[in-house]
Amino acid sequence: MLSKLSLALKKAKARIKTPKFECKQCGVCCVKYVICVTHKDAFRVAKQTGLDPHEFLNCTIPEKGVEESFKGVPRFTGQDGKQWILCFKENEKTNGCYFNNSGPCSIYPVRPYVCHAFPFLWHGENSNPRFTFNTDSLEFCKGVVGAKENKFPFDAVAEDMKISEKEDKEYAKIVKEWNDRVEKKEIESPSLQKFIDFIMKKASDERN
Ligand code: SF4
Ligand code: SF4
Repeated sequence: MLSKLSLALKKAKARIKTPKFECKQCGVCCVKYVICVTHKDAFRVAKQTGLDPHEFLNCTIPEKGVEESFKGVPRFTGQDGKQWILCFKENEKTNGCYFNNSGPCSIYPVRPYVCHAFPFLWHGENSNPRFTFNTDSLEFCKGVVGAKENKFPFDAVAEDMKISEKEDKEYAKIVKEWNDRVEKKEIESPSLQKFIDFIMKKASDERN
């Protein structure tokens, strides 16, 4: 049986289509999700922070029950021949994103595109609506509670999402090339470390 709280939440979720929202930069959303990244995301972060990408990148295999949220995310063949998703490491203190210490994002200008649309979901330029509200955020997003107006920059984020879609396609091709080369045994003992080197070289080549 649903508790009163979860019943109220369910009703609120059904009612809210586009809530008032103003980000409070609390960083709570940054400890809720695995942050998937592309070659370009990793390249920008490494360039901006001066960090070695091996320091902040990791890989994951989604647990049963949450696979749906990772639908369409390219998987590379890595350790043990398993299919992995590239993501940020966890921050040891918060168990959230590597770049969040229970506050604002420390790489905000170069944060991965996957972070740009939250707490909305992007459905593509030709969709109507292009954005819908991610009702899961009602459970924790301080920007929805008590906001007086909607300050989400829909038009600017739509532009970001177009770049994101382009980079996602490039990344999918790179992952396919990696997987094909592993299958042909052109890359031996595939690992996260080797995959990171592979995608960083691709990102660097694309820039030149
Ligand atoms: S990159 Fe920044 S915005 Fe994205 S989850 Fe990490 S801390 Fe949050
Ligand atoms: S939880 Fe909401 S208010 Fe807090 S940083 Fe994320 S989007 Fe902004």
